[in-house]
Amino acid sequence: MATLGNPKNTAEILKKYNFSFQKKFGQNFLIDNHILESIIKGSGVTKDDFVLEIGPGIGTMTQYLCESAREVVAVEIDKSLIPILDETLQMYDNATVINEDILKLDINKLAAERNQNKPIKVIANLPYYITTPIIMGLFESHVPIDSITIMVQKEVADRMQVGPGTKDYGALSLAVQYYAEPKIILNVSPNCFMPKPKVGSAVIRLTRHKNPTVKVENEKLMFRIIRASFNQRRKTLINGLRNSNELSYTKEQIQKAIEDMGLSLTIRGEALTLEQFAQLSNQLNK
Ligand code: SAM
Repeated sequence: MATLGNPKNTAEILKKYNFSFQKKFGQNFLIDNHILESIIKGSGVTKDDFVLEIGPGIGTMTQYLCESAREVVAVEIDKSLIPILDETLQMYDNATVINEDILKLDINKLAAERNQNKPIKVIANLPYYITTPIIMGLFESHVPIDSITIMVQKEVADRMQVGPGTKDYGALSLAVQYYAEPKIILNVSPNCFMPKPKVGSAVIRLTRHKNPTVKVENEKLMFRIIRASFNQRRKTLINGLRNSNELSYTKEQIQKAIEDMGLSLTIRGEALTLEQFAQLSNQLNK
């Protein structure tokens, strides 16, 4: 039975191993069973699933995952947590802990060897500064992924989920929505962690599209166009694209592409949908 999701048991095990929190690893451990149960439910993990957990900490979520999934591989960077995980996961025979930096692990190899290249589910609660590179890395590489359920800063979850016409809409929204369907599962207050983080958090599930929802001939070009459009949010789309050092189109070429799409020449990039960015990049790719 999962036992760690409360302040008393968490404090006890930390004391037993004389553990000291490391800021650089973003260590805030969940101490609320209700939140843990909601995350498991929202992640859609079932007994058929192979789960990669990134940053298990003392194994609080890992215990729940072992009970809900077929197999769990947990990757933890901090070697001082490994003896703790040995104890907290000892009653589960479907858990493997790897002491490694997730950014250095070959996840493709892991999925091939341990799950015959079938889609895996990823669960992560990580330092917020590496969250975006990890999500993008997972989507951009060819790791077979069914979904990523991840705890992020509340504002970041909002940014991933919104569409045009809101202030949070930006390059991150489009990158995430190109690959996946985002859904915020729940908000998590700082009180649910030990120690308490300074910011509010949210858990978001990104379910990978089985088939692309838009047709893009040149993905790299589309993302350059998106970055250029949001680098200078308050400029028109034409000026944003002209001022980008990642693109080398003339004003006339950009104008023609925008006109061919039936859009106004004064439109701003932030008004375009993902589908329109795809169309624009296909026009400019000709
Ligand atoms: N999942 C646990 C929980 O919810 O209580 C712990 C979450 S804590 C916010 C983040 C965990 O990720 C820590 O255990 C930290 O040591 C680990 N971590 C940080 N950077 C990592 C990396 N690059 N690779 C693997 N684990 C990492």
